[in-house]
Amino acid sequence: MNCIFCKIIAGEIPSYKLYEDDKVMAFLDVNPYNPGHTLIVPKEHTLDIDSIDNDTLMHIMDKARDISKLLTEKLGCEGFTLIQNNGFVQEVKHFHLHVIPKYVTNLEMNVEETFEKITH
Ligand code: AMP
Ligand code: ZN
Repeated sequence: MNCIFCKIIAGEIPSYKLYEDDKVMAFLDVNPYNPGHTLIVPKEHTLDIDSIDNDTLMHIMDKARDISKLLTEKLGCEGFTLIQNNGFVQEVKHFHLHVIPKYVTNLEMNVEETFEKITH
């Protein structure tokens, strides 16, 4: 399947991976709204909110809570926003939940530096 997120999950293209288990993977968005912008995806190819099963959806929400704690601890964001796009506003047609850190004072950091800061 020609799906960029399936290729990331399969390890065929690189990603800044923050978390992985048997059901989901979380990695940094390469075009972040803010430093630390993370995507959480199901490993099984699933289109959207309508087609994802409840267990996986709840697992993703649970991991969003963990990821937001990690970003708060490592990057010092003072808030965060969860977004999930469907239909014509969904660019990548593999379900993903955006975890977007919010900063009182804008933080300027590229994805590589952000990944270093989170993982070291
Ligand atoms: P959406 O509009 O919700 O489908 O957003 C798709 C998101 O995927 C955008 O924020 C892109 O920057 C992000 N994205 C696209 N390709 C990659 C990639 N290879 N690695 C990480 N994030 C990506
Ligand atoms: Zn996919």
